[in-house]
Amino acid sequence: MPFTTHKYQQTGAMQDDLYAETRPHDAVLASAPNGMFICAADGTLESVNAAFEKLTGFAATELIGRRTFESLLDPAEFAKRRAELPPLATVSTRYEGEWIVLRRNGTPVRVVLALAPLVTETAQAACPPGYVGIVVDMTRYAQSEARLWYVAHHDGVTRLPNQTLFTERLELTIARCQRSGSGFTVLIAELDHLRKLRDALGLHAAELVLQIVGERLGGLFPNDGTIASIGGTQFALLINESGAAADAFAAEALGRIAESIDYAGTALSITASIGIVAYPADGADAPTLMRRAGVALSAASAVSGNAVRRFSTALEGQAARRFELAAMLREAIARQQLHLVYQPQVTLSNGHIAQVEALLRWNHPQRGLISPLEFVPVAEEAGLIEQIGEWVIRTACRDAGKLLRQTGNLPRFAVNVSPQQFQRHNLFETIQEALADAALDPCYLEVEITEGVLLDDTEQALQTLHALRELGVEVAVDDFGTGYSSLAYLTRFPLHRLKIDRSFVMRMNTDPQSAALVGAIIAMAHSLKLRVTAEGVETAEQAVQLEALGCDEAQGFWFSRPITVAALRNLLRPLGAI
Ligand code: C2E
Ligand code: MG
Ligand code: MG
Repeated sequence: MPFTTHKYQQTGAMQDDLYAETRPHDAVLASAPNGMFICAADGTLESVNAAFEKLTGFAATELIGRRTFESLLDPAEFAKRRAELPPLATVSTRYEGEWIVLRRNGTPVRVVLALAPLVTETAQAACPPGYVGIVVDMTRYAQSEARLWYVAHHDGVTRLPNQTLFTERLELTIARCQRSGSGFTVLIAELDHLRKLRDALGLHAAELVLQIVGERLGGLFPNDGTIASIGGTQFALLINESGAAADAFAAEALGRIAESIDYAGTALSITASIGIVAYPADGADAPTLMRRAGVALSAASAVSGNAVRRFSTALEGQAARRFELAAMLREAIARQQLHLVYQPQVTLSNGHIAQVEALLRWNHPQRGLISPLEFVPVAEEAGLIEQIGEWVIRTACRDAGKLLRQTGNLPRFAVNVSPQQFQRHNLFETIQEALADAALDPCYLEVEITEGVLLDDTEQALQTLHALRELGVEVAVDDFGTGYSSLAYLTRFPLHRLKIDRSFVMRMNTDPQSAALVGAIIAMAHSLKLRVTAEGVETAEQAVQLEALGCDEAQGFWFSRPITVAALRNLLRPLGAI
């Protein structure tokens, strides 16, 4: 569309036009994306471009020579702010400011108006012949501002509010509750095993799960509340309920998350852990509440997931102790404060030592012995277990190799391997190298895994277990019976031995059902061609009862406590000794 000029249109090219020589080229103005006009010194419009027509809704013929640009401004605003505009007839200054233009149909448009005096060689600087004006429609920018705000405050995958927006709302809620004296609850829910799901089925499946869970949780809010996606795998929820009503909400949330999700014909079952904090009991500001909800969440995930935990100061104490322990453990590794002891496992029918289990010990110079029950979970959480685990494997193999050379006689050495070590690609290589370095035949080594490794059921774990079997290393399932009741996995994995957990053995004498259960586990294991070891045998009675039930081996204080490698050497009797 042409740049419509009153003078060109009505009088043709005016040779004596004072500013013709300096006026921008018509074609440029015509195609300019923003509204532009030229007006006379009194503000009467002389030329307008197509964008100006579009912005105002007026046709050029309705404007040129008929209206001043000021008459297009919102009259109410103009009345208030007219002094801001340069006095057109006298002053030759540049001007820029935000105004509201009323379109032909009366709708307001927020614009930035820029005015500059037309400068010509002949024109008097003090009194320009007119002005060139640029009018920029700000609605477009307002929209992109809103878009920027949206992107900065929402999660890209779930489209839920993100941490920033959640914190803002949390702070607002705190301020409101401070005034009203009421309380509320914050919950942080984290999906268990999402990383494994992503490894197994890909990013798309993991994102879909997050979206579905987000929708399900969003559907739970009875009144107003806030749900947000934080940290990639977590959801933060703010509800007005507290006490038992909040607990009921959390339980319902777990239930909704656990409903199966159909992914390309596969039914995915997802669980979550939830940490809860109450305002004002657990904190008076947003950072404290969020940190403590995280502490409660860690406690919930630590009990193998699908659980809800409320924050307590005791939990915080434990978290602080774990943090301190992790720092101390790093130092312990560097200063070699860890060592191994070995506990024999005895064949019940003949009393021979069939295996010895390598057990970690940490002797802290000031704090004394720290139990692996306390520090192994800390090492797992702090990502230190791989390094420690590798040291255990290498040390146990080295001790075994040495003992074999010294005594000519060696039981199998069992080492405990954490699930995290199985997730690494190099577990098999580490074991192979440790055996080679110690010149030890693989048949002298066994790994003890927990039911967790089997339940994770990852391709990686399965491959490693098969590779170990081919190498000749045996595999035992530790603490059997304490994990999940699904026995199906026993047939899917290459296993050699089940170790019945101490808790069953302990109750056997007093509780006939426990004895029956132990008997049933032994029978089932034998039918699957697995040997059985009973853990935690502390009395002769238990040993006799286990043998009667057909148990193959037993480990426990009745036979031997864990002993040093030197004591084990004596037990195995050196070559030539009487
Ligand atoms: P676990 O593998 O089930 O080891 C058996 C635990 O039961 C050992 O505790 C052992 O000392 C204890 N025990 C053996 N016989 C008896 C008994 O008759 N009565 C009682 N009350 N307890 C008995 P420990 O050495 O404190 O180890 C605890 C757990 O720490 C182990 O349980 C294992 O899960 C973990 N752990 C120990 N060493 C390592 C290691 O090198 N790597 C990994 N990943 N975990 C380890
Ligand atoms: Mg063990
Ligand atoms: Mg055990």
